[in-house]
Amino acid sequence: MAVIAVGLGGNLGNPAHTFNLALDVLSQEPQWHLQKVSSFYKTPAFGPPQPDYLNACALFEVRPTPHMVLRALQAVENQFGRGREIHWGPRTLDLDLLFYDQWVLNTADLTLPHPFMAERGSVLVPLAEIIPHWLHPQKQQTVLELKNRLVLTGIELFQTQGHRQ
Ligand code: AMP
Repeated sequence: MAVIAVGLGGNLGNPAHTFNLALDVLSQEPQWHLQKVSSFYKTPAFGPPQPDYLNACALFEVRPTPHMVLRALQAVENQFGRGREIHWGPRTLDLDLLFYDQWVLNTADLTLPHPFMAERGSVLVPLAEIIPHWLHPQKQQTVLELKNRLVLTGIELFQTQGHRQ
């Protein structure tokens, strides 16, 4: 079994509801076991002008390989009608594979750990809630240390531990 961290984001429709449905669907995947879910946070959007995002992180224990995990995440994104029309534009659901154990991987379609996670408060704030002491295998700093390096502005608690566990 491997432990994975998944980042959830969305800014169209009702993202809190979408997150709960997506977590239910992922929990029902064979060999996926939901361990923890962070609170949901409202975070400012970057890229083109668009509504604020909702962000959260979840921890699963899984048996599938990293690429199988990525394909499962993409299937759930598609199921919830994520728009991919505009680069970094609004979407109903964005699922990122942040960590797969301590794997470091650089393939055409999958980079591990997720390439932007160490710079993003929208990822590190919820992630530090559930796995503060997880070591980033390339940065050699924990999630909490990475979060504490950032100047965090505009991130607001939206819903405490939004998903029933
Ligand atoms: P985005 O628009 O930011 O969700 O990026 C989606 C693309 O990033 C997909 O084509 C994935 O193949 C690729 N990708 C690379 N590494 C990852 C990762 N760790 N998690 C999710 N998507 C990834």
